[in-house]
Amino acid sequence: MKRVVLLGSTGSIGQSTLKVVEDLPDRLRLVGLAAGGGNLDELARQTRRLRPSAVCVFDAAKLPSLRARVDGATRLLAGEEGLVELATMREADVVLIAIVGTAGLRPALAAIEAGKDIAVASKEILVMAGEAVTAAAKRKGVRILPVDSEHNAIWQCLDGKPRGEVRNLWLTASGGPFRKKPKAEFARITLQEALKHPTWNMGSKITLDSATLMNKGLEMIEARWLFDIEMARVQVVIHPQSVVHSLVEFVDGSLLAQLCEPNMRLPIQYALTYPERLPNTLPSADFVKMARMDFEMPDHDRFPALRLAREAGERGGTAPAVFNAANEVAVDRFVKGEIRFPDIWGIVESALARHRLVEHASLEEILAADRWAREVSRAWKGG
Ligand code: NDP
Repeated sequence: MKRVVLLGSTGSIGQSTLKVVEDLPDRLRLVGLAAGGGNLDELARQTRRLRPSAVCVFDAAKLPSLRARVDGATRLLAGEEGLVELATMREADVVLIAIVGTAGLRPALAAIEAGKDIAVASKEILVMAGEAVTAAAKRKGVRILPVDSEHNAIWQCLDGKPRGEVRNLWLTASGGPFRKKPKAEFARITLQEALKHPTWNMGSKITLDSATLMNKGLEMIEARWLFDIEMARVQVVIHPQSVVHSLVEFVDGSLLAQLCEPNMRLPIQYALTYPERLPNTLPSADFVKMARMDFEMPDHDRFPALRLAREAGERGGTAPAVFNAANEVAVDRFVKGEIRFPDIWGIVESALARHRLVEHASLEEILAADRWAREVSRAWKGG
């Protein structure tokens, strides 16, 4: 029995994780849950149904309201200290981090220090602080289990093979809803259009990042740290059907791929039950549905996100934190109607160009770079 703490339980990954746990009641048990407080009804429902030992709501102002909706059996926590307390609780074996944004970073580091394995959906953690997080995990002898479907696929294909045998890691990308849209029309893209993902059903931030390909850029940097491989060996190929979740190209020319229908339950399950494969209630492969698989190379002129990510990843230090924070602000400004769709890349490019890099940055330096990038990106007026 593995005891799981789930941070971000009310979100898209969080809800899929609950299904995985319900599917494997003899193997997985939820002992702690956390969410932001934006969907308190759902957090209260989960608390009553699953009766975990502790639950945290990040927005402390919502604590009394949560208390009023649940019985006294569960310990209730709030704020960042609450997230850290959950992430380090004695009865937890693994902490799955599925918080959108950067709030998962401190709990992730705390979990590692407490000797817990972490299962990472929140790519922001490794993008911002990949060097610090992977070094801490190595020092404490804990595992970083990839939940993101592409990294989970690569992890399955690598199956412990040494880096020296790898020519390239190939991340697949659906290409998003604008794969075929002419560049001249990008400035007129609406929020509703950008929120329509062709193959995956996900939270709104990652859906918008998929439309700009910023999500794939974040994943390139995530892969660099998860698999301890230089950016030059991390590649992207467009695969609109999202059936091949990623591939490893070995030095002898062999390509190994992991395939399944686009459903996050599978990578979540594999991360939580690793190294075992267990039967579940997911449907078997449907070869008729999978009959067609197309591949094409990304268009860097129309989608500059991959180039920006590669540059940020290669510069290292605080640059990826700036890339991530500028993108978060840009997406937020696009959602609010303040900027046009292609300005998202413009904001990130401008922040990266102006940033004074700190190499081998400490956590404080990373957080300072994050704050700086948010400020300049909020102030960005074009050009
Ligand atoms: P959602 O927007 O659907 O959910 C986000 C979750 O985070 C919610 O439970 C939200 O709670 C919670 N949350 C937000 N802020 C805080 C906070 N400060 N403290 C605690 N909890 C908080 O996002 P997704 O599930 O789509 O994505 C989560 C992460 O997983 C992202 O980093 C994303 O990039 C990554 N990911 C997602 C995939 C997917 O298929 N969705 C695939 C691969 C990676 P509430 O709303 O109740 O306030």
